[in-house]
Amino acid sequence: MYIIQIASECAPVAKVGGLGDVVFGLTRELEIRGNSVEIILPKYDCLRYDQIYDLQLAFKDLWVPWYHHAVHCSIYFGFVHGRKCFFIEPHSDQNFFHRRIFYGHHDDDQRFAFFCRAALEFMLKSNKHPDVIHCHDWQTALVPVLLYEIYQRIGMTHPRVCFTLHNLQHQGVTREHILRATGLNNHAHFYHPDRLRDNFNHSAINLMKGGIVYSNFVTTVSPKYAWEIMHTSQNYGLGHTLHVHRNKLGGVLNGVDYNVWNPEIDCHIPHQYGIATLDKKFENKKALRNRFWLQDAFKPIVCYIGRLDHQKGVPLITHAIHYCLSHGCQFLLLGTSPDGRIAHHFWGLKQHYNDNPDCHLELSFNEELSHLIYAGADMIIVPSLFEPCGLTQMIGLKYGTVPIVRNTGGLADTVFDANFSDKPYYERNGYVFNDFNAPGIESALHRAIGMWYSYPQHFRELMINGMRCDYSWNHPGQHYLNIYELIRDK
Ligand code: ADP
Repeated sequence: MYIIQIASECAPVAKVGGLGDVVFGLTRELEIRGNSVEIILPKYDCLRYDQIYDLQLAFKDLWVPWYHHAVHCSIYFGFVHGRKCFFIEPHSDQNFFHRRIFYGHHDDDQRFAFFCRAALEFMLKSNKHPDVIHCHDWQTALVPVLLYEIYQRIGMTHPRVCFTLHNLQHQGVTREHILRATGLNNHAHFYHPDRLRDNFNHSAINLMKGGIVYSNFVTTVSPKYAWEIMHTSQNYGLGHTLHVHRNKLGGVLNGVDYNVWNPEIDCHIPHQYGIATLDKKFENKKALRNRFWLQDAFKPIVCYIGRLDHQKGVPLITHAIHYCLSHGCQFLLLGTSPDGRIAHHFWGLKQHYNDNPDCHLELSFNEELSHLIYAGADMIIVPSLFEPCGLTQMIGLKYGTVPIVRNTGGLADTVFDANFSDKPYYERNGYVFNDFNAPGIESALHRAIGMWYSYPQHFRELMINGMRCDYSWNHPGQHYLNIYELIRDK
């Protein structure tokens, strides 16, 4: 099959969070299974150009319709660790992708609406007729709308669209100017409640809703999250739309690319290890301590790796740091926040613990360092308010770093409590808590730390159970292929 992924992220060249990992990992898996896959991305100035091989101009003069004129674009092609990627570079005063960061500008709606239009225009002009276009999140939600309202009528009759919802909190709610900009000119048609009109703000359009309505199949990133967005308020107002389109909705758990995230072959860690050589993990623990001047003491290292966002449970992360330090643990955090208030909060904490030999907060984005932390830590916390899938707990499992997670979304699908799960003992792999408050997370931390100190053999079994789990792309890859097969134009 011929598949094109259109996305705003792809690891490691453009990665903010899990979306980037998913686009890369799924593409790789589909290729291994004999499919031809290409990825279309914006050519951000902040791409990791050192990770793109053989970048060259692939299409010189692409004119993309935009309002009443057209924007001149160049399309580049390069390999990202073997994946075939096209990068769209517009030449206009607005400098859509020359902003030094991926997201967070006042005109993000325009930036990504333009990207959608440009991706389709490029496919049309370069005669690309994939069986399936796979889009991700609100940034690329206009692709199916534009395909079926404009491009199908001018020759793109073959492609079908699979749309994956990675996070319903961000929907791309915007105004009518986006319709005009992208050539969707029939105002009344698109503002219809069955199409793009936002379910609450009737003067707004909702791009994610448009993606759901127009796609041939919609997936979200774990079965539990699929259930939650249908039956709880986690759908942020899209419940009715999802309900109407429930027959084309499914939950496919994300995979982890074990070629990238695997302690047996990881070139970012000083000591590779596996289940049979688990003791070498502790050499990485030493290396991690050396890197951050943590004292070499008989204590577990608890870590947090991820975006510092409301969704991730900022108060619980903060509470866990205090709790761990006062209960015989060391704590390491790697994260960033685009939200000024949250960033300020963690800079304050960092200063507060500056001289503490058991604590380090690294407030930056550092892919290589994250590997060392996964390998060197004993436990990883993921106390999210909601979590569509979550990759950090799955990566932690692979590295024998026991996850402590809240019972929500993909966390609930992948982590099974050491004491209370109804799974057999050999499938239990971490600690799970329910309540989104301090006693909630304490209940799990208390049990995990107690196990580490008092029953090290049992703790080691938990580590090994986790390392044995298969959260690779093997199963989800097949699920996606089944979906593509179902929707493709035969
Ligand atoms: P989300 O997609 O909500 O951000 P996930 O758990 O699905 O969360 O994916 C997070 C991914 O981003 C993981 O690969 C994690 O290692 C990585 N990551 C997050 N923050 C950082 C950071 N500051 N430095 C390096 N990697 C990070």
